[in-house]
Amino acid sequence: MGIADIFKKAAKKLDEGKDPICGMKVDLETTKFKSTYQGKVYGFCSEECKKTFNKNPFQYADANC
Ligand SMILES: [Zn+2]
Repeated sequence: MGIADIFKKAAKKLDEGKDPICGMKVDLETTKFKSTYQGKVYGFCSEECKKTFNKNPFQYADANC
């Protein structure tokens, strides 16, 4: 494995997010449903999950850490 592969892998990992509400894998680059809480970007699979998060962000953000 070359150094380029390692960087590629690291970059991919950053792009991948997890929906803190339902646990689904979310691509932070392409998802339309995003929310920023305490400087961290969270991605969601649907408007519904985003709404749930925005109602109680502290609850889900803590669980995600
Ligand atoms: Zn979801």
